[in-house]
Amino acid sequence: MEVKIIPCLNDNYSYLIFDKNKKNACVIDPSESEPVIKIIEKNKLNLKYILNTHHHYDHVGGNEKLKKKYNSKVVGFKDDKDRIPEIDILVENNQIWKKENFEAKIYHIPGHTTGHIAFHFYKEKKIFTGDTLFSLGCGRLFEGTYEQMFNSLKRIKELSRDTEIYCGHEYTLQNSIFCLNNDSENIKLKEKIIKIKDKISNNLPTLPTTLADELECNIFLKAKDLKTFSKLRDLKDNF
Ligand code: ZN
Ligand code: FE
Repeated sequence: MEVKIIPCLNDNYSYLIFDKNKKNACVIDPSESEPVIKIIEKNKLNLKYILNTHHHYDHVGGNEKLKKKYNSKVVGFKDDKDRIPEIDILVENNQIWKKENFEAKIYHIPGHTTGHIAFHFYKEKKIFTGDTLFSLGCGRLFEGTYEQMFNSLKRIKELSRDTEIYCGHEYTLQNSIFCLNNDSENIKLKEKIIKIKDKISNNLPTLPTTLADELECNIFLKAKDLKTFSKLRDLKDNF
């Protein structure tokens, strides 16, 4: 399974995953259609499925045009069926979604929104976390509670350390400043920041990150209890 990272809007990432031989593809969170179409055409792919982590416009904005153009099916969380545009296939927590050569486990990970999910391609050890887990950060609580977000992150933390994490936004550098402010002795973090700055100065995405990196450097994953996590989330909102 190949992954193409597609920058969209200001700081969003959509991801195109595809099977090199059969040319079948899925797109995760198409913020807009045009940049996705470009990559599909360039690689002569068949866009079979559109996978949405949550209903926010910067994750579903391209659904309608892509579905029309490629006759794709839209996959999203069952409870968000009325707010994910053009939804066709409803998935639920812990379900294995399997089509063509694609096989992902669905995790319901509320907090940023009540219906947020992650797609975990466990054979390839890749997880698409939308706006729940960012590199060195986590999503804002728009609809869910601190406890929901804490537990959602906990679920991701239990995956194997070499899992690659693909997030919905390029917030890494900004997030790193907050982590460093609250964890100034962290040598691993300082090393990661050097790599991040290098990528950004070369106009490259800082993603994917790995779970191992995040466990060591992401202050939200390092929070040992709900109280610590909630305090950090509040601090970050006013940072
Ligand atoms: Zn969002
Ligand atoms: Fe977003």
